[in-house]
Amino acid sequence: MRGHLTTAGAGPVLSLILSRQAASRPALERVSGLSRATIAQRLAVLFEAGLIVEAEATLPSGGRPARTMALNTGFGTVLAADIGESVIRMALTDLAPRVLDQVLVAMDVASGPAAILEAISRGCRDLLARRADWTAPVLGLGLTLPAPVDYDLGRVVGPSVMRAWDDFDIRGVLRRELAIDVFADNDVNLMTLAEHRLMWPDRDDLHFIKAGTGIGSGMIMGGRIYRGARGASGDIGHIQFDAPTAPLCRCGKRGCLEARAAGWAIARDLREAGFEARDARDVMALFDAGVPEAIQGVRGAGRVLGQVAADVVSVLNPAVIVVGGTLARAGEHLLAGIREHVYQRCLPLAVRDLEIVASRMGSDAGILGAAQLVIDEQLKPGTVEGLIEKALEKRAA
Ligand SMILES: [Zn+2]
Repeated sequence: MRGHLTTAGAGPVLSLILSRQAASRPALERVSGLSRATIAQRLAVLFEAGLIVEAEATLPSGGRPARTMALNTGFGTVLAADIGESVIRMALTDLAPRVLDQVLVAMDVASGPAAILEAISRGCRDLLARRADWTAPVLGLGLTLPAPVDYDLGRVVGPSVMRAWDDFDIRGVLRRELAIDVFADNDVNLMTLAEHRLMWPDRDDLHFIKAGTGIGSGMIMGGRIYRGARGASGDIGHIQFDAPTAPLCRCGKRGCLEARAAGWAIARDLREAGFEARDARDVMALFDAGVPEAIQGVRGAGRVLGQVAADVVSVLNPAVIVVGGTLARAGEHLLAGIREHVYQRCLPLAVRDLEIVASRMGSDAGILGAAQLVIDEQLKPGTVEGLIEKALEKRAA
């Protein structure tokens, strides 16, 4: 059997299935332009390796129901770590991805890279030890960092809450400790990825805004995360507005979006009005208590966000804008201002089918995005063939 199976060409066929461009044999033939025999051969390899399964659901194709193919979510597992400002969350997921097990460690992000990476290595080893009887391969570790990340290098670059991390070889250290592949990206990009794959898989163009204590955004363009040349795209928080009384931003410039609409800026204004507030969580506590100044602050933030969102819509024409982060809990109070400006300022064609919604993913977005990143990287054509080879060898043994 082994001798007849070649992994060549299996990657692109898997890609069509994973991206939901084609899930049945007839659809795969149509979309790929390959013959029935070739598709059958490539699917046989994917089935034999255990990467795909035949799904229960059938879909109509020319009147006859066709069996569909889907990723075998139990083929492997993924480790994911979400580094927050005060807590590190580590999880083991399947390939859906779904969290199967997790570990939380209270640790200040200011503890520095050596201590934090050691805690992550230890947490990952614990998670794997708890599943020692599993034979499914671990595809890698995905890392969510609350800082700008040069994606190709996997390093934090520039000023952020992760000061001592600048240019630190995160992937190298963890790869040596855990002997698995490591991928890292900033938290907003990974929340964007999770939002797209798990909530809006059939929208190819999505803009995600994280409105929390700070403000950031991520973009899915043509079904893929858009990072720009070095991974700095989507940094809308420091887009500046000219105004005579521009407030000072924490980045040192004046008039940034953050200085007007971020959780820390609303908290600043609330302190001036005599309330106690430091961050987005404090703002939302006052909001939930019905404090008019807090409600006013969130609504005002929505209007300022709307001005920047309108520019993004004009340039990129997304199909959906998803607003997440702590402030998004305010729902319509925050979204109203965004909608108002976007619909007022953008071309009718750009807003015809545009949806502007609050995220429904909750606190899992970062960790699931990190897992999804590993899955995407390891199952892409050109890389997945190695996994297939190993799986076939294991089955033959
Ligand atoms: Zn700024």
